[in-house]
Amino acid sequence: MNYDAIILGAGASGMMAAITAGRREKKILLIEPQGVVGKKLSATGNGRCNITHDPITLNAYHTDMPKRLESVLSSFDLESTRKFFESIGVSVYNRDGYVYPRSNEARSVVKCMELALEEAGVQLITGVTPTDIKKTDTGFSLKLTNETHEAPSLVIACGGMAGAELGGSENGLLLAKSFNHRVADPFPSLTELFCSGLSFKKLKGVRVHGRVCIIMDGEIISEDVGEIQLTEKGISGIPVFNISFEAISGLSIKKPITAVIDLFPEMDKEMLRAYVEYRCNIGRRSIEEALLGLLPEKLIPEILKLFDLNGKKASRLSEIDLDNLCHILKGLALDVCGYGDYSRSQVMAGGVLLHDLKDNLESDSVPGLFFAGEVINVDGICGGYNLQWAWSSGAVVGNHI
Ligand SMILES: Cc1cc2nc3c(=O)[nH]c(=O)nc-3n(C[C@H](O)[C@H](O)[C@H](O)COP(=O)(O)OP(=O)(O)OC[C@H]3O[C@@H](n4cnc5c(N)ncnc54)[C@H](O)[C@@H]3O)c2cc1C
Repeated sequence: MNYDAIILGAGASGMMAAITAGRREKKILLIEPQGVVGKKLSATGNGRCNITHDPITLNAYHTDMPKRLESVLSSFDLESTRKFFESIGVSVYNRDGYVYPRSNEARSVVKCMELALEEAGVQLITGVTPTDIKKTDTGFSLKLTNETHEAPSLVIACGGMAGAELGGSENGLLLAKSFNHRVADPFPSLTELFCSGLSFKKLKGVRVHGRVCIIMDGEIISEDVGEIQLTEKGISGIPVFNISFEAISGLSIKKPITAVIDLFPEMDKEMLRAYVEYRCNIGRRSIEEALLGLLPEKLIPEILKLFDLNGKKASRLSEIDLDNLCHILKGLALDVCGYGDYSRSQVMAGGVLLHDLKDNLESDSVPGLFFAGEVINVDGICGGYNLQWAWSSGAVVGNHI
């Protein structure tokens, strides 16, 4: 069968590309190896789908070519995204910048995209993996079971390796390499960091509000504030996800990486010192009791252990003891020794170099070959930025094939 374009992957970016091109009367074949479309999309935002962020800022992303990223994001911006979703039946709302469907159901986003694919006349084939993908004189050809399909354009929208159980795989990168495309080394991002420095097994499930900084070569290379979760092996939660890219990049070049947590970002050192001293003089409490209600109970002995303060009377702490305690509360230093793999990460960093694509995301070296979504070397922090990249890149490709 002949088409105007064949799109590989019915995830966020592939469906967007197919609907956009189908609405332009292009004859599109969309292929998805899994039995359903949008499997990862239906798990996003804890099942609620954080569709995008308002506003979208460039510094929320990592890429090799910020200018091209900006061009793609502005070609299909926030307003275009909102209009597109309204046009397929998905109404959205904004909660502190995080944009969700009003249904609060990722499933309904997938369902509406599926309906829009049908309405745009896209031919969808699921449950089969394409083979023999080749460049021909007139475009591209591939096999699905025994049938050969051809088109002048091919779109690789196969996603990245994050979330294997949701369809994450290396397929897109392998295909890109088969067309001699350069790929930035991939690694899991938006993931937990494994650390040493505390008895994490005892602390699993503890949550603290704080600022977490990543230190490399004595300098802060990334930081974020929010709810930090302690896990069996280290630290997790949105602020940790957001600084994981820089921490993992540092580890990958064998640099010692330290995560420093400020448990009281809203107070400076002097304020905190005065406040802790005041609490130490309430009643005749032990230091553990003086910190109750200030820190999660399980964390208190772990913090006190660092300066051998356990069991001391709060009012009898020396000036040095108080200084040490406040120093730790403002800067709990943990050595980062590893990170969650792709099964625990939300996104893959690295991928096909944006530098080697045109502004319409067509390959510079292979005419008619396009890329969209996470397979490209663009990844963002938490908050809807990764899906916005999938929508914008998918729409730009869909408008040019
Ligand atoms: C648990 C989780 C929660 C997330 N939550 C959010 C969120 O709330 N907001 C946000 O912005 N981002 C979120 N993300 C990230 C976001 O889901 C991805 O960045 C986005 O889905 C990438 O879109 P994509 O189209 O590139 O890839 P995908 O959506 O992964 O789609 C790629 C598709 O290609 C298919 N495929 C693979 N190989 C082939 C092949 N050889 N031929 C044809 N098809 C193939 C796959 O089966 C898959 O369906 C989350 C990720 C995870 C894992």
